[in-house]
Amino acid sequence: MINLKACKSCNTITEAAKCPRCGGETSREWQGYLVVIDPEKSEIARKMGIHAAGRYALRVK
Ligand SMILES: [Zn+2]
Repeated sequence: MINLKACKSCNTITEAAKCPRCGGETSREWQGYLVVIDPEKSEIARKMGIHAAGRYALRVK
């Protein structure tokens, strides 16, 4: 089973203990799966301050 975690700082979803994007701490307690393909065209991505394509969690505890 894949144990996905999400970064507490930038919400990036990863399997690593540290975020590969910002080096932040990751948490297993997250909700909502968001795939951003084109951040400039995604309203949710803009609201969340996402500027790069990738997989993100909507909420991280
Ligand atoms: Zn991060």
